Amino acid sequence: MFPGIEAYDVDVTVDERDVERALAVRPADVAAADELSFARNVFLPLTTACRYTCTYCTYYDPPGQASLLTREEIRETCRQGANAGCTEALFTFGDDPDDRYAEIHAELDELGHESIHDYLREACEIALDEGLLPHSNPGDQTYEEMAAVADVNASLGVMLETTAEVQAHGGPRSKVPGQRLNTIANAGKHGIPFTTGILVGIGETWRDRAESLLAIRELDRRYGHVQEVIVQPVSDNERWHEGSPSTATMRRVVAMARAVLPESVSVQVPPNLMDARDVVDCGIDDLGGVSPVTDDHVNPEYAWPALRELEEVAEHAGVPLAERLPTYERYLNEEWLSERVLAALDAPDDAGERYRTVRAGT
Ligand code: SF4
Repeated sequence: MFPGIEAYDVDVTVDERDVERALAVRPADVAAADELSFARNVFLPLTTACRYTCTYCTYYDPPGQASLLTREEIRETCRQGANAGCTEALFTFGDDPDDRYAEIHAELDELGHESIHDYLREACEIALDEGLLPHSNPGDQTYEEMAAVADVNASLGVMLETTAEVQAHGGPRSKVPGQRLNTIANAGKHGIPFTTGILVGIGETWRDRAESLLAIRELDRRYGHVQEVIVQPVSDNERWHEGSPSTATMRRVVAMARAVLPESVSVQVPPNLMDARDVVDCGIDDLGGVSPVTDDHVNPEYAWPALRELEEVAEHAGVPLAERLPTYERYLNEEWLSERVLAALDAPDDAGERYRTVRAGT
């Protein structure tokens, strides 16, 4: 049983035979994709406050140093992104700022919001107004918190990272696998297209990797809402000095993800964190987001590759590179999206034209 699933009342189990099958997968067992996709986005770290202190993470700033994007900053970045041809506003959080972040709560108060999730709703509305589709990655969310932003997002995401309890999540404030699984389940209950992923190299075992992927598969089987799984290597930075997984490890994990997950679920490796050419024959079919406007605030030491570099990966693989929207094509309908987002997709304006052009090419 995964740690914390009782506390969060989420029912996920995996079959031991499936674990054994996943552990047996090698790169030669999976086929390369016949196309690679990517999205053009702007990156909006709504707050760098986080109630947790994961030891590999450079995203969060401690209390007193954490920031909150202003309405004006959000609008300006979205406007620049739309002008540069982006389609996605990628909002990220740390997890809910806790009581220690007094100044963040005071700023939210001044903005007239009770919580960061309330502010996220307004931020998403700004993005829609400026001609971008919001995709929010706001850490863990309760069913109610998700309900508050569901109709203004084209899709949501949170990294599962691992179903194991690892030292890297340790300390007095430690995130719990059950809470993450519950967030993924909540998105399924709301019928929201969802992106998740695993983090490789934070102390998890091969069995943990297999179980994490199988847990994601189980939730997707239940709700059909998982659009993409990111297989992300941990990287050295100012807080993490334990190194990254080897190329051989990444090749095997990516192949395991491809073999475990249904074909409908995309597998992505972030090409700013490893050379995607090394895993392109292991079943990845997506290269994530590329931004002409903002840095990758989650991993600021690793610049996003230019579009040209993504093209080089596709050339190396001998497959076409296709732009996609933040939400995958099969979810772009009334079953999955709100009237508000569907209206944005079909709007007779420049933004609608950008979305239609991207969809026509996929
Ligand atoms: S990885 Fe996420 S939950 Fe952990 S400290 Fe960083 S922002 Fe917070």
